[in-house]
Amino acid sequence: MTLAVSLDTTTPLDDARLQLRDAVESLGLGESVYEQLAHARREMSVGVPLRRDDGSIELLLGYRVQHNSSRGPTKGGLRYSEHVDLDEVRALAMWMTWKCALLDLPYGGAKGGVTLDPTRYSVAELERVTRRYTSEILPILGPERDIPAPDIGTDEQTMAWMMDTYSVASGYTVRGSVTGKPVSLGGSLGRATATSRGVVHVALAALASRGIDATRATAVVQGFGKVGRHAALFLHQAGTRVLGVSDRYGAIHSATGLDIDAVGRWVDLHGSIVGYPGADAIDPATLLELEADLLVPAAVEGVITADNAPRIRARVIVEGANGPTTGAADEILEAADVLVVPDILANAGGVVVSYFEWVQSNQSYRWNLDLVESRLEERMRDAWDTVSAFAAVHHTTLRRAATRLAVQRVTEAHQSRGLYP
Ligand code: NAD
Repeated sequence: MTLAVSLDTTTPLDDARLQLRDAVESLGLGESVYEQLAHARREMSVGVPLRRDDGSIELLLGYRVQHNSSRGPTKGGLRYSEHVDLDEVRALAMWMTWKCALLDLPYGGAKGGVTLDPTRYSVAELERVTRRYTSEILPILGPERDIPAPDIGTDEQTMAWMMDTYSVASGYTVRGSVTGKPVSLGGSLGRATATSRGVVHVALAALASRGIDATRATAVVQGFGKVGRHAALFLHQAGTRVLGVSDRYGAIHSATGLDIDAVGRWVDLHGSIVGYPGADAIDPATLLELEADLLVPAAVEGVITADNAPRIRARVIVEGANGPTTGAADEILEAADVLVVPDILANAGGVVVSYFEWVQSNQSYRWNLDLVESRLEERMRDAWDTVSAFAAVHHTTLRRAATRLAVQRVTEAHQSRGLYP
């Protein structure tokens, strides 16, 4: 127990590097491959001065990390959160490299962040932050260089401001400079719900692999934002009873299952699930430990730890969030035979449809929703089949299987290109 607790003090970057270490060693790739992949190719830290609405000036800190570009331009979200720091962005950028390689997208991984709590700023202030941050990192952005997308605390409006700032600096409109933008600006149909769709495709496959019928299953979803809300809704539509959901303000539970459409309407009116009348309020800390077949953490990283992992009763965990399970928790869940579908597979639907959006933007041609969703499903199911087959053959977890497959693909591209000069 002492060992587990001390291991749990690892940061997301420690966990990401431990996963890489395991993959490099099991693939027999050698220390220089580890060293090159453990560190980002390019990192930019910027000061972002913001004029507040009251006229005062505040300096915010921003980052953009481009982890690896062996397979193509880099791609990854932009996060606005008071918890953002450079190491968190480094870990998230590395996971993006593996995610893109695993889904066979022609990208490397990147991530960006600004350390701010977006709920404390007006819309006008957020626009000024976004435009100044974008102009600070402009030299390393571009549709052939690095393409941002939304993440925690950012949305399609943020992407519209980024695209406009990039386009004004370029002197013409560059639709391929961001993804996750509004449909009116060339955003893809189906992008807003793509991550959640992908989570549910994979969740249904994972439940089936454990002999669990989705229409008889129960689920719990942590986080009710861009990913969690629609993951809960699509599970509900698939016939799965969603017993509990949470957001940063609280958690609710219903033993008979929540009406997710009704919870969504409540959130639209009140800004939070708290106070929803058709359910009981519960302690958010206990939400993850509810009795259910499926648990979907879709909020932030590091929520399943060595402390609570022994109390988790779900048989399948599908990581909607990036990095929700610490390395120490992973070991406990593996020993308890809980099937953990890792983030780099489970939540890849967002970057898959971001890729479709980038293709459409670069070609100035729109695909219809059916085409987007059928191609997304095909990619997610193929990735699930590949990872689960690899895990079965090598008697290992889905996380190790997914990371090894991804590291192998990135290393192959890297070695084929050779070292310049
Ligand atoms: P979001 O900001 O839209 O939503 C986050 C949700 O989590 C909100 O409901 C918030 O209230 C809740 N939350 C925050 N802290 C919480 C806590 N401690 N306990 C419970 N709930 C909490 O963000 P999002 O885009 O939905 O991202 C969620 C996760 O999914 C992140 O890890 C993100 O990196 C990952 N992800 C997002 C996308 C995407 O397309 N948006 C794609 C892949 C992965």
